[in-house]
Amino acid sequence: MPIFRQLFDTTSSTYTYLLGDAAAGEAVLIDPVFEHVQRDTALLRELGLRLVATLDTHVHADHVTAAWLLQQRTGSRILLAGAATAVNVDRPLQHGDRIAFGSRHLEVRATPGHTSGCLTYVLDDHSRAFTGDALLIRGCGRTDFQQGSPQRLFRSVRTQILSLPDDCLLYPGHDYRGVTVTSVREEKRFNPRLGGDVDEADFCGYMDHLGLPHPKLMDIAVPANMRCGQPDGHGAPAPEPGWAPLVYTFGGIWEIQPQTLLERARELQLVDVREPSEFTGVLGHIAGARLAPMAQLADHLSALDPQRPVVAVCRSGARSAQATVLLRKAGFTQVANLAGGMLRWNAEALPVVGAAAD
Ligand code: FE
Repeated sequence: MPIFRQLFDTTSSTYTYLLGDAAAGEAVLIDPVFEHVQRDTALLRELGLRLVATLDTHVHADHVTAAWLLQQRTGSRILLAGAATAVNVDRPLQHGDRIAFGSRHLEVRATPGHTSGCLTYVLDDHSRAFTGDALLIRGCGRTDFQQGSPQRLFRSVRTQILSLPDDCLLYPGHDYRGVTVTSVREEKRFNPRLGGDVDEADFCGYMDHLGLPHPKLMDIAVPANMRCGQPDGHGAPAPEPGWAPLVYTFGGIWEIQPQTLLERARELQLVDVREPSEFTGVLGHIAGARLAPMAQLADHLSALDPQRPVVAVCRSGARSAQATVLLRKAGFTQVANLAGGMLRWNAEALPVVGAAAD
């Protein structure tokens, strides 16, 4: 099995999928979301994978793709259906194309109907397929805009998706109830719109009377996605912190490495959130650090300058990670956690003060 991760955007209920070949160190992301670039690049780094391509299943109307931003940050190529006629695409995809990552590949199937450029990506061994909005769990994408067509969607799903092996797992582009996966067998039997004995006329009658409001973000998302997520000046990404080279972890914490902290200690405010006995214990503390045990952290905030960066320190980096969350909630914007805490600081033989003899 390739490396596989299912990621979620709570705002639009969008699933992003990571597929990777561990031996080759290569990965692709299907339907990455603009706001989650930091999360997704952190996960790739932690899994030791290089992003070779982003694949959107279609031009989305409810969120902005991260394809362009990931291309800028990682050098990944932007893949999207040629039929979508978007700009900034590195490789316009056609039915029957193959997308390689390491020794594995995805097969491209045209599944128009929700939009005219919808694609389904099928894993080489037909064990999994990523259906975008063509087929959702017990549902399907709407067909009332972006050149949608219920006739085309019905034929796409029946001939390209439900024709896969019964055991093939199907991963949708969204789920609004938090359900994560289905199978061809299940959807053939239980999909109320497209399964069982439903025929094309039944399906069109159903789809033509959905009466859904347009997605809230449509007027922003569709033009942005026609540029593969390149901002037009209005929606620039959140900048990387400029005050020090930091690493963003998949746990959502900005970390500073011990050596970087040593070099920049003078410019920073250091908050050590351990107990007093630890502060003067065997690990010692960093010169200039303010002792502010976790339980009393709130009492120390008024003594900190919100205009200057704050680095939180503890024994292992766990308590101080939570301290960075509390500091951000308190309004501090330039906050980082010392990676590995005083354990790593000592392991790297960096200078400490106040260390008790063992
Ligand atoms: Fe969609």
